[in-house]
Amino acid sequence: MAEIASLLTDDEKAQAVAELRGLLGDRLTTSLPIREAHGRDESWHPVVPPDAVAFATSTEEVSKIVRICARHRFPIIAFGTGTSLEGHISAPHGGLSLDLSRMNRILEVNAADLDVHLEAGVTRKTLNAWLRDKGLFFPIDPGADASLGGMAATRASGTNAVRYGTMRENVLNLTAVMADGSVVHTARRARKSAAGYDLTRLLVGSEGTLGIITELTLKLYGIPEAIASGVVSFPNFEGAIDAVIETIQSGLPVARIEFLDEVQVEACNRYSKLSLPVTPLLLVEFHGSEASVAEQAERFGAIAAGHGGGAFEWAVKAEERTRLWEARHNSLYAALALQPGKKGLISDVCVPISRLAEAIAGTKEDLRTSPLIAPIVGHVGDGNFHLIMLVDPDNAAEVAEAQRIHDRMVMRALSLDGTCTGEHGIGEGKVKFLEAEHGEGIAVMRAIKQALDPLNILNPGKLLPA
Ligand SMILES: Cc1cc2nc3c(=O)[nH]c(=O)nc-3n(C[C@H](O)[C@H](O)[C@H](O)COP(=O)(O)OP(=O)(O)OC[C@H]3O[C@@H](n4cnc5c(N)ncnc54)[C@H](O)[C@@H]3O)c2cc1C
Repeated sequence: MAEIASLLTDDEKAQAVAELRGLLGDRLTTSLPIREAHGRDESWHPVVPPDAVAFATSTEEVSKIVRICARHRFPIIAFGTGTSLEGHISAPHGGLSLDLSRMNRILEVNAADLDVHLEAGVTRKTLNAWLRDKGLFFPIDPGADASLGGMAATRASGTNAVRYGTMRENVLNLTAVMADGSVVHTARRARKSAAGYDLTRLLVGSEGTLGIITELTLKLYGIPEAIASGVVSFPNFEGAIDAVIETIQSGLPVARIEFLDEVQVEACNRYSKLSLPVTPLLLVEFHGSEASVAEQAERFGAIAAGHGGGAFEWAVKAEERTRLWEARHNSLYAALALQPGKKGLISDVCVPISRLAEAIAGTKEDLRTSPLIAPIVGHVGDGNFHLIMLVDPDNAAEVAEAQRIHDRMVMRALSLDGTCTGEHGIGEGKVKFLEAEHGEGIAVMRAIKQALDPLNILNPGKLLPA
């Protein structure tokens, strides 16, 4: 692979920045606070600012920016909203943070075909607010109000994925600027296609290492006629997880099924002013007609009761439902508030649903003898869960302990035929596990990277092991 551009001299970098400034004027900045804000994500990974930040406004402009950077071998790190969690947007080799947040136009909605075409900087909440009075919604909901370009780039998912899939299933077409500045459209609007290599899915999850996504066509869904959410508490986590496994195996089309352990419940109670019993719980939601929602809820209630679940606490009104799901989406901030000043070593793994109990039990056992405070929360219907370990980054012993538990959690997931990340992605934080997960597949990934980005200017140092 090509040498990385950190080997550029200060003069060479200054030339790249000067040429970019000629194109962008005051939409190119070298201000330190702005650079730092673009080298910092929401995790514990250190801030590594880029040399400059550019605010692009069109695909054509992104193409020109990429051509300039390619000529100077100046790294480019695409930036959506900076909510990723594995050091994805840090700039270990310097270069340009290419901020797409000003590309925020919703370009076309085809209600008859249930799709929308938009620019990469539109955020998921903006899209859903805009769609609401059309009776439509886009279901993928990472806790943060992320950009849809960033969500495609990380193959994001969230609480609705158990019913509606992840970004992998919901992107129909991408417009992307490749490393040489050329512009490609990966597909048409057709719901399925057998025409050639699937470039859409190659770019989805590529974390800015293969191309810059500038526009997307996404699938939409009708807002369900009836929605019911509720909470069931369990005396122990085993009962809750067994209830999830039975729910999924029985084919119940639950729309959301989220697990919070007792530590996370306590955190959410304090942060979101709830008064849930401090025991493991499942937060569930059903979508459909009035009759089908009632039937699903009844079937789920029976399954939960069979595993020790208590009475269903229904959130009947829309405001109550929103309050519960907001508390769930804020669970990271609730966890961080348990020990102000500490950072969250946040990680996610995903395993086949039948192995979920083993995966969580192993981590719970590791935590039992650890001094760390570490809530567990998860999109368990997909076999996906998150661990948030609160650490003082300046306390070497604490960091080492968190890394020990983290590495054991990941290696356990791999041994259970799972993956080192179900949704957060690789960034820098999970690079060391990619080889263990993919083996020979890494060589194929390297060949793709070499073919599409021979100068290694797109987010160098991320995703693939050096
Ligand atoms: C509180 C909280 C809760 C979260 N919950 C979830 C969750 O439930 N599920 C989940 O999946 N994630 C979750 N996340 C992680 C995060 O929100 C997702 O990874 C999200 O997809 C990142 O989008 P972004 O716009 O912030 O991307 P950024 O952080 O800006 O970028 C992420 C990566 O994508 C690349 N990138 C960004 N935009 C583009 C583009 N247009 N073209 C090419 N590459 C691009 C960047 O270079 C980088 O590698 C959570 C984060 C927080 C803070």
